[in-house]
This record gives sequence, structure tokens and C-alpha cells, in this order.
Amino acid sequence: MFADRARIIIKSGKGGDGHVSFRREKYVPNGGPDGGDGGKGGDVIFEVDDGLNTLTDFRHKRKYAAGNGEEGKKRNCHGKNGEDLIVKVPAGTVIRDAESGKVIADMSGGSRRQIILRGGRGGNGNQHYATSTMQAPKYAQPGQPAIELEVMLELKVIADVGLVGFPNVGKSTLLSRVTNAQPKIANYHFTTLNPNLGVVDLEEGQGFVIADIPGLIEGASEGVGLGHEFLRHIERTKMMIHMVDAASTEGRDPIADIYAINKELEAYDPGLCKKPQIIAANKIDAIYGGDEDPVEKLRREFEPQGIPVYPISAVTGQGLKELLYAVWNLLQTLDDAPIVFEQEFFPETSLYADEPYTVSYDEKEQEYVIEGPRIEKMLGYTNLESEKGFLFFQRFLRDQGILKELEDLGIQEGDTVRIYGLSFDYYK
Ligand code: GDP
Ligand code: MG
Repeated sequence: MFADRARIIIKSGKGGDGHVSFRREKYVPNGGPDGGDGGKGGDVIFEVDDGLNTLTDFRHKRKYAAGNGEEGKKRNCHGKNGEDLIVKVPAGTVIRDAESGKVIADMSGGSRRQIILRGGRGGNGNQHYATSTMQAPKYAQPGQPAIELEVMLELKVIADVGLVGFPNVGKSTLLSRVTNAQPKIANYHFTTLNPNLGVVDLEEGQGFVIADIPGLIEGASEGVGLGHEFLRHIERTKMMIHMVDAASTEGRDPIADIYAINKELEAYDPGLCKKPQIIAANKIDAIYGGDEDPVEKLRREFEPQGIPVYPISAVTGQGLKELLYAVWNLLQTLDDAPIVFEQEFFPETSLYADEPYTVSYDEKEQEYVIEGPRIEKMLGYTNLESEKGFLFFQRFLRDQGILKELEDLGIQEGDTVRIYGLSFDYYK
């Protein structure tokens, strides 16, 4: 089995607490506050290591934690920052939230290093809290807590070619014959729960990865049966081999089958049908006389549509070489940019989903005000001075429904929004 998975627990570093202390000097009986700030907690960072090609290392170690920030010290000394934790993974690793299955990061393509969990911010020492009325503050800010998250790592092998067709047309048989994969071959439906991946080796380093996508049946696009899961895998392939039972050993009509499956693909995602297809007319060893040659019938129907038909027998091996080279040649003409998954899960955002917040209008200042623990905690993980951080925070406000609430309050373009001492103009 190709697809490699592991579940691990990652934890960022806690921010160090701010310190409470007072200057002590000779002849100065009551010195001012000099408690330093806590250090920042370490980030959990994932990094691609080209020397790795499996996730087996993660089977032996389950917990990964970055260092905590140190507490601030007296004499305004800043606590040491916690050490970042670098987790090395093979290229093509997808990191998901284990609970929801949503993608946190996809370490493929240009993404070689990514912060997955941010360390907590260090707390302010009491030196920050001296005011004209409170000259000896006994308060310092606690550091932000660590974030712990269970994640699922999945090594994504993107198949170049998806093998589709009704059950029992011979997909698994083909895969076992032309690749190193050992799928179950059986005369009943839904034998395999995972798409089987196999590598086809032609000669001199030429080859491609092929995925047998089982369980594609009518109704799959509506989520019937297991089809839906598998359709997702076809999304990532560059082309499809569409297999039919040309001998109709189970009484199926191969032409109607191709239309039925294409309809399913289209209903799921209209883009899927635009991927190039090659028809593999299988089981030609079992065609006995009869009226018109079923292979010719298929050709007459589909070749005018630009879909070539290759007669094969997955059992005897007839026609396989021609089919595989046709696939290889077609692949050479297709774009080979890797397909990268978008981020769907934001650890910091989901962490505080239960905390309250309020959105209100401050008549006196004529500003909209957003506050509450959820907002305050999020801010601690966000650097609003960087463009990326600002975009992240904007998305957070949108996802949490906060922008909607501002609109409900009647906010207009150019109005001011205040969030814990930060003010910015509102633009759609
Ligand atoms: P899948 O459901 O599409 O994966 O189909 P399988 O590979 O499990 O094959 C279903 C049945 O068809 C099995 O009994 C195979 O032995 C048979 N079969 C597959 N390919 C051929 C072929 O080329 N010729 C003949 N005669 N039978 C085949
Ligand atoms: Mg099968």
C-alpha cells in the first residue's frame, strides 16, 4: 500500500509569564517596577526534507512539543524565547486536523516550510503597568497558553492517471498486471475501500502512477455508497483510463456505461469531464463472434469525440503495451504542475471558537468596537503589522461572522473600527 499515514500530537510553546518585581538600589527605598516580559513560546514548524519518503518515523514517536517561553526576570530582563520545533516530513505530506479531517497545510509544490502552530506570546512584566495613580503595580500579564492539536499526516501520492469504470470490468486485474500493486480481485462490488495506487514502469525511467478508483457507481455524485470519497481522488489525476467490459460478460452495455459514468463525473465536478480520457475495452479474450465487433462499435461512438479506444485483455495481456504507451504519450502533452490543497483549518481560530466577543458602536468616539476574550486571544497570535497577518485576521473576522455583525450595525466604507487599541478603516 502506497498511501502512508500517521497520527501525532503537536504542541506549541506556552508564552512565558510577565514578571513582578521592583527596583532595589541602595538608598532607594521604594524603586519602581522592573519586572521583565516573558519570552515567546516556540512555534511548531513543518519542513520538507528531500531525504525522506515515508512517514514511518512518526509511528515510533507520537508527541512533538516546542519549548515554552521563560518567565520574565527582574531588572527588566526579558525571558528567553522557547525553542521552535522543526518537524521534518517528506514532500507531498498533507497535514490535517485529526478531528475534522480539514487541511491545515499541504507540503508540496513551493511549500517547503510552514508554521503550523504558533507559540504563545510572552506576558508583559509589571514595568508596563505603572501609571500616575498606580506606581507599584503587583500585576503582570500571564503568557499565552500553548496550543495542542492532534494532526493526521498523510503522504499524498498523486496519481497521474485515474482508472474508472463500473465494478467488475477488470480494473483491479489490470492494476495487478501492469503495476507493483496487489489489489484484491474479486467478483463482487466494493472490495477495496482505498484507491489502489500502483506505479507503471515502462523503460528507462519512464513511468507513471495509476490509481484504481473503485466503487464508482450511478448515484456516486450524490454521495450514494462510497463513490464520493473516491471522486475526490480523480480530481487530482491528470487523465483517466475509462475501462469497460467489451465482452459484456455481465450483460452490461459498454457504450451506455461510459455515458453513465461520465454523467456521474460531470455531476460531481464539470471540470472532471474535461480531463483527457482513453477507453480501455477490456476482456477481448471473451468476445465470441456475434453481430458487430463491440470494439468497433466503441470506436465508432467515441473516436469522433476525440477519445481513443484500446482493445485489451487484462487477463491474457493482449494490447496492454499499446495502451500503456498511449497513456504515457498523452501524459507527456499534459501540464505537470503539482496539485496543491488549500488550507481549510486554522488552529488558532478554532481554538477560541467558544469564547465570547462583542461588537458595538461607540457613540462618543464614533467608532465601531470589537472586543472580548476571543478577539484578544486571537490578536496574540497575529502580527497585524505584516500583510499576511492582517489578511489572516481579516479572514478570522469574516469566518467568525464578525464582519457580518458590523454590517448589521450599519458600518459604512471608511468608518473606523477599534480593536484593543488598534484602529483601522473599514473597507469591504
Ligand atoms: P474491478 O471490479 O473492475 O476491479 O474488476 P476485477 O479486476 O476485480 O475483475 C472482475 C472479474 O473480471 C474477475 O473475475 C476477473 O478475473 C475478470 N476479468 C478481469 N479482466 C478480464 C479479462 O481481460 N478477461 C476476462 N475474461 N476476465 C477478466
Ligand atoms: Mg476492483
